[in-house]
Amino acid sequence: MSLIVQKFGGSSVADAERVMNVAGIITDTYRKGNDVVVVVSAQGDTTDDLIDKAHEITDKPSKREMDMLMTAGEQISIALLAMAVEKSGCPAVSLLGWQAGFHTSSAYGIARIKSIKADRIKAELDRHNIVIVAGFQGINKYDDLTTLGRGGSDTSAVAIAAALHADRCQIFTDVEGVFTADPRKVENAQKLQEITYDEMLELATLGAQVLNNRSVEMAKKYNVEIEVLSSLKRVPGTIVKEVAKMEKMLVRGVTKDTDVARISVTNIPNIPGIAFKLFSKLAQRKINVDIILQSVGRDDTKDITFTVSKDNADGAIEAVRSSFDIEEKDVTCDTNVAKISVVGAGMESHPGTASKMFEALFESDINIDMISTSEIKISVLIDAKDADRAVSAVHRAFFPDK
Ligand code: ADP
Ligand code: ASP
Ligand code: MG
Repeated sequence: MSLIVQKFGGSSVADAERVMNVAGIITDTYRKGNDVVVVVSAQGDTTDDLIDKAHEITDKPSKREMDMLMTAGEQISIALLAMAVEKSGCPAVSLLGWQAGFHTSSAYGIARIKSIKADRIKAELDRHNIVIVAGFQGINKYDDLTTLGRGGSDTSAVAIAAALHADRCQIFTDVEGVFTADPRKVENAQKLQEITYDEMLELATLGAQVLNNRSVEMAKKYNVEIEVLSSLKRVPGTIVKEVAKMEKMLVRGVTKDTDVARISVTNIPNIPGIAFKLFSKLAQRKINVDIILQSVGRDDTKDITFTVSKDNADGAIEAVRSSFDIEEKDVTCDTNVAKISVVGAGMESHPGTASKMFEALFESDINIDMISTSEIKISVLIDAKDADRAVSAVHRAFFPDK
């Protein structure tokens, strides 16, 4: 007998038929003699719809009330799924995040899981119940409900698997696994059998939404092997783990991230300490900076360009203005940009990955604005209108049609 954690995303439980389908997967697992803990997201677009409802009332809802609102989505899906499991003939109990013992930091909207007091889950398993837990939510030290950030149910699932020392952690979704690019957008995207935590973390951080990046971070930390697989088609998925088969691939995936704003600051003094001043102001505001480019100084001035996420753009501009006495025209912000990346541990030992990527972009007549690299990834910033074409072109270069 094993303890298995199964997580189902919003599209997997979007309507009554899908909920019954998921109940079938869960009860099959239970009837094979396993203990089963299920984590579930809100149905379909429920979370987006709830956010829209808030914005019908106010442009600036408080973060506390947003969390109170958004956690309602998962409350609906856990109850419906528990009913579906009972209808399928197996005992089930649904638990909200706080009932399942999820204690988080107090930061509404982006809370981090601090601990899971799993006594209630364990007691329900002892009673032979299938335990169905609301993903994406917990409770903070003020006894307020919190959410873990968009896509946070993946993290809830990995955290439960780690806390319970589960034998398996399965993340069911609407595609068959992790692919070399978004299979809904890129023809010929290939399913990966296995991928390392480090590569998956880069893919997830750089835009492959199939797994939330924090969930991968947590899986690596607690050594939880994740299986990503389809809730609609019963075929093997992708295993995410410490050491993965290389499958002779230089690159594991190509991603697109459109949540990027590029801030350019021109005509700043070409003296020491300028970058320090600017980036410490950004750090004080807890703004994460991604790609940074500084021009060579000329005529006693220099330019600095950097990227942040779109919701940090205004804060970043304020930080620039508070760092330098600067003319309005010398600070510009462009949100019509996208970051295209290639990821793969193999590129470390193979020169030529960058040139192959740049050649593919050149042949598609796509201009590169900024470039950044690490050992296992290369990212370029381009015009947002070229993003989908760029992903396809770069993917074709690394994964030619068979
Ligand atoms: P869930 O609701 O199950 O959490 P998500 O919508 O969060 O599902 O994630 C699944 C989606 O991720 C897929 O439908 C797919 O379009 C997208 N996706 C983006 N990049 C990739 C990739 N490299 N491999 C698989 N899916 C990807
Ligand atoms: N329902 C939440 C969201 O849409 C959490 C999740 O689906 O993982 O972001
Ligand atoms: Mg998701």
